[in-house]
Amino acid sequence: MRIYISCDMEGTAGVCVWRQCDPENREEYPIYRRYMTQEVRAAIEGAREAGATDILINDSHSSMRNLLFDELPADVRLVSGAPKPYSMAEKIEPGVDAVFLTGYHAKGGDRDGVLAHTFSDDVVYRVTMNGTECSEALLVAALAGSRGVPIVLITGDSTIVRETTRALPWAVGVAVKDAIGFYATSTLTPQAAQAAIRTGAREAIRRIAAAKPFTFPGNVEMLFEATRVEVADFIELMPGFERVNGRTLRFSADGYESAYRAYVAAVRLGAGAITPP
Ligand SMILES: [Zn+2]
Repeated sequence: MRIYISCDMEGTAGVCVWRQCDPENREEYPIYRRYMTQEVRAAIEGAREAGATDILINDSHSSMRNLLFDELPADVRLVSGAPKPYSMAEKIEPGVDAVFLTGYHAKGGDRDGVLAHTFSDDVVYRVTMNGTECSEALLVAALAGSRGVPIVLITGDSTIVRETTRALPWAVGVAVKDAIGFYATSTLTPQAAQAAIRTGAREAIRRIAAAKPFTFPGNVEMLFEATRVEVADFIELMPGFERVNGRTLRFSADGYESAYRAYVAAVRLGAGAITPP
């Protein structure tokens, strides 16, 4: 049984400010990358207890070089480093039995979200696909779904867990913290979070038979709301993007795969508009 884990960091228990997730930070980041790694390990242990054998992990945060190799089981495979074309969804392929999303967080624009954002706090305010507002979890879920692969586990803050399990009712949700504000949280301890994730992962594997790929079928219209006008100015340069208003662009795709690719490309191009000279 092949399990794929896309692991982000802002939804890790305890995390409530950017510097805890910033690889440049020398004080707090080394502590929190260890907690992130331990949560991934807990998910692997739970999956293994329920019969998973083949595990591929995609480190999906920032530099995408966060996980501590020597704290992972020896017989997993790791996708490490960035940038990579499909980003948080790199190497989700047909033949994977199910996907776990760990350390995920509320989407940009959410009110009750610790460090809420969607791919880039600097570039993206909000993105919708066929009218559905998308979090990182839903964007990845739909790419997995387009390849016939279901999401069975989501861990992170209670806002993203609630929203994702509403859209994907077959998935197990493990909320490790609640938002008090953008930079404050009421959180489980790392130990308690890891125990809950391990139990959740076990249950998620048991539910695979009932899980469904999540899809946006047919043509997909993406509305991309940038954080600023100058970001939208850059994204508009790309053929296929049509300006709706100062900060919003529309992209019509012949399927979700194209929409996802256009989204990732827009995030990367848009970032070029805010790099200081
Ligand atoms: Zn993220």
